[in-house]
Amino acid sequence: MSEDKPATSRSTILKALEIALKTGRVTRKYPFAEPLITDEFRGRIEIDEEKCIGCGACVLACPPNALELIEENGQRMIKYFIGRCIYCWRCIDVCPVNAIRGTRDFELATDNIDDLVDIVVHDMVKCSSCGSAFMTIRQKIYVIKKAPLTENYIDKDPKCRREKTLNALLKRRGGVMKYE
Ligand code: SF4
Ligand code: SF4
Repeated sequence: MSEDKPATSRSTILKALEIALKTGRVTRKYPFAEPLITDEFRGRIEIDEEKCIGCGACVLACPPNALELIEENGQRMIKYFIGRCIYCWRCIDVCPVNAIRGTRDFELATDNIDDLVDIVVHDMVKCSSCGSAFMTIRQKIYVIKKAPLTENYIDKDPKCRREKTLNALLKRRGGVMKYE
């Protein structure tokens, strides 16, 4: 059933050889020669800590979890582990303040894992009702500029804000006011 298979295979190889001889070498002798870096080439990212507001949008968008949001001791950290990054640049697309820049850097081998970690640290604000830290100071400033909330609401975390809104509505309708 497969008597003519070797012949087909031989002709395929000969055809490939003919094309290869005509085309010549297409690969580069990297690292002994310069690598080919095109305009479309994507490398590691850089987060501008002056621009970042700590919103966490990039963390949610990152497919391999190379970006992580950590909250402790009233601070929020955006941690970038380059070792997991697949250089898709989705984080750049979602950042509301253009704080992330794509670079062409790809030669990142190291024997010190700390070289592969970048951390941006933000101080957080606390809810004026329950005291939980719920957003960064820079995020608050951003929200005030972009989506003005009244003073009564901006200092409250989403849970307390919802409760206050509901009780205000209830009060208006003559119901029982629970919120203090
Ligand atoms: S480039 Fe892609 S993989 Fe790397 S941090 Fe951004 S979203 Fe994550
Ligand atoms: S999306 Fe932009 S502003 Fe938000 S945490 Fe990431 S880098 Fe910072």
